[in-house]
Amino acid sequence: MQISTTPSTSQVDDARLAEILANPGFGVHMTDHMFTVEWTPDEGWHKARITPYGPLAMDPATAVLHYAQETFEGMKAYRRDDGSVWTFRPEENAKRMQRSSHRLAFPELPVDDFVAAVDELVKVDQRWVPESEGEKSLYIRPMMIATEAFLGVRPAQHVTFMVIASPAGAYFKGGIKPVTLWLTTEYTRAGRGGMGAAKTGGNYASSLVAQQEAIAQGCDQVVFLDAQELTYVEELGGMNLYFVYDDGRIVTPETGTILEGITRSSIIELLGKFGHQVEERRFSIDEWRDGVTSGAITEIFACGTAAVVTPVGSLKWDGGEAPAPASDELTMKVRQALVDIQYGRADDAFGWMHRVV
Ligand SMILES: *Cc1c(COP(=O)(O)O)cnc(C)c1O
Repeated sequence: MQISTTPSTSQVDDARLAEILANPGFGVHMTDHMFTVEWTPDEGWHKARITPYGPLAMDPATAVLHYAQETFEGMKAYRRDDGSVWTFRPEENAKRMQRSSHRLAFPELPVDDFVAAVDELVKVDQRWVPESEGEKSLYIRPMMIATEAFLGVRPAQHVTFMVIASPAGAYFKGGIKPVTLWLTTEYTRAGRGGMGAAKTGGNYASSLVAQQEAIAQGCDQVVFLDAQELTYVEELGGMNLYFVYDDGRIVTPETGTILEGITRSSIIELLGKFGHQVEERRFSIDEWRDGVTSGAITEIFACGTAAVVTPVGSLKWDGGEAPAPASDELTMKVRQALVDIQYGRADDAFGWMHRVV
């Protein structure tokens, strides 16, 4: 893939950038550039380019605005103490976007092109990658959208893949504290044959009202059950779940209707190295309630790129509440191990890190 570059003539100046990077928040400040490549059936992927960051001009009939044919990814670039910049398993994001693309009837972007696009944007905007202190990073958002202007319902014949980036501060301000959860029995995330395993905006659109309910109930986040039996734990709005037992067993809900988190699968490998075999299986809400009530479940944690790993506290539902597990020892050990690999402070035994700068 040949990438042309048009540098921005209105880049954020050093003083303003320092101010932004001192307190980046999440997803509010975009870098100076963006990557774009387009697809049509005749030309395939073409016109790959880095251009100044800016708004898109769109025909109001553009398909993505009507039928939500879109997929996205979420990943980060990390700066090490020696100044180098690295991404974490970018080819896994590329492959997951291919799976999402398949589900959304999009053409697939080759893995190498996906990784090259991310690398090129991070290189061009490398001054936007914050120093590592305080777990800061550059959040990267690849996305694919249906850009054909046409109101008929069929896969778009014009598709655009873009990458944008935004500096991110630590997910937890003022120390890590457990997230409290609301169990929704009114809404589900994904049914069999649905889009649960695809990273697509529609899943988020349908989760918002449930998340609103969680906040109204005084909880931080919502947890979803399976759509068919309302019995088995799926995941949070944007994080996968792990359950740790006092006898050393560890369970995580099996894939199928959940999003296949790259943090989730990396943790399976890490825990293997720590000597734990993870059971990937259906996990019922009664096992959760009984486990934390009896004390057999000692830890629960949620994981995803944004927060890495976060302890899970109490669980509330319509008519009851289950207590927070007693410990977060393994949770914090797993978290530290992952963060240390990402920032280059520990040996990358799995070969997960990819150097960009
Ligand atoms: C992105 C996402 C996750 C976490 O995936 P990671 O690859 O670990 O960041 C979990 N659940 C949902 C619904 C997601 O969209």
